[in-house]
Amino acid sequence: MCQACNERSAQHLTREGESRRGFLTAGAAALAAPLTIPALSGAAHAQDAPSALAESRVQSWAAFDTSGSFAPHTIPRRAAGPKDMVVEILYSSICHSDIHTYKGDWGMPQFPLVPGHEMVGRVTGVGSEVTKFREGDYAGVGTMVDSCGTCANCLADREQNCLNGTTFTYNSADKLSGGVTYGGYSRKIVVKEDFALRIPPGVDLAGFAPLLCAGITTFSPINHWDLRPGQRYGVIGMGGLGRLAVKLAAAKGAEVVVFTTSEDKLEDAKTFGAAEAYLWSDEDAMRRQRGSFDLMLSTVPVAYPMQPFLNLLKLDKTLVNVGALFPVEGAHGMMMGFGRQSLAGSMTGGIAETQAVIDFAAHHGIAASYEMIAPEQIGAACQKVVNKEARYRYVIDMTQA
Ligand SMILES: [Zn+2]
Ligand SMILES: [Zn+2]
Repeated sequence: MCQACNERSAQHLTREGESRRGFLTAGAAALAAPLTIPALSGAAHAQDAPSALAESRVQSWAAFDTSGSFAPHTIPRRAAGPKDMVVEILYSSICHSDIHTYKGDWGMPQFPLVPGHEMVGRVTGVGSEVTKFREGDYAGVGTMVDSCGTCANCLADREQNCLNGTTFTYNSADKLSGGVTYGGYSRKIVVKEDFALRIPPGVDLAGFAPLLCAGITTFSPINHWDLRPGQRYGVIGMGGLGRLAVKLAAAKGAEVVVFTTSEDKLEDAKTFGAAEAYLWSDEDAMRRQRGSFDLMLSTVPVAYPMQPFLNLLKLDKTLVNVGALFPVEGAHGMMMGFGRQSLAGSMTGGIAETQAVIDFAAHHGIAASYEMIAPEQIGAACQKVVNKEARYRYVIDMTQA
């Protein structure tokens, strides 16, 4: 039934039975519109049908304090402008950054907080100047939704390093609509076309959501430090980042070695493509590996002494920290000097590079291993991540929100 004209016809029915709240909010008339024509399907509707591009209020799941519990919450989404698109979010995965943020580890967030920067959904509306997406396409949104577009870093496809301040997907000052940005634990997002990623048809959509942060975060160092086939690549930590790091580097042809603190992850590591896997506590293994790595990636989300791993690098090589976004511990200037090793930081990646990891994963048949949960389970799932009990990425089925 069309909400605008109370008429039931084929043109007004939602597709594939998707008569869920997001679609109803977006407006059935918009769904029936021809591709690339954003709003209304007929002149009879022109005056009173709700447009898919209109400002709306959207169901989300929010944290209201640092306790780790989540509850339903309605948030505003701005009207889509000419260069914006509207995405009905289907899957949103839980990144450890979401947990750090609600716990206040990086400073107190603005509550209510709607996290989520790994989301995949379906385009339900496009502005008049959008060229790369059509209604019905699949799209992803990652860690950022805006940047100045004119500074040296933005012009070098490094929007995440924008000199005028990147707008991150949640808990960031929203320069377009004021207030704060809200992330993917919600039914719908309005995003600039330039900050949306194309998700190829036919892929496992839920398994692609984690590529939007964990995937690009682990892929970018592989690119920047130019990991080559046959080179030895050490991955420290086997959480959400580590698992994707192993899959992506193995697909590049590297010889991947995992270091974990969890005995039950040793076999998992090999399943994901690692050639070898060791416990940190295995002193013999640590001794044997000294000076053998071309590149290492630390995905551990807390600070820990890094010098034992810096010792595993070959001369002049680099350990890249992407997990512990805190003061790092235990690097020893003298020891790093002997081998002229580097300790580097890296955080997410630019939009073009994010598209590259999505295309790379699609080409190689890679997706994150995940466990689907309902929105009601977000709090419990986050606790399992904190307890290191998560063997796979938790993906929230946002169609249930
Ligand atoms: Zn993340
Ligand atoms: Zn910039």
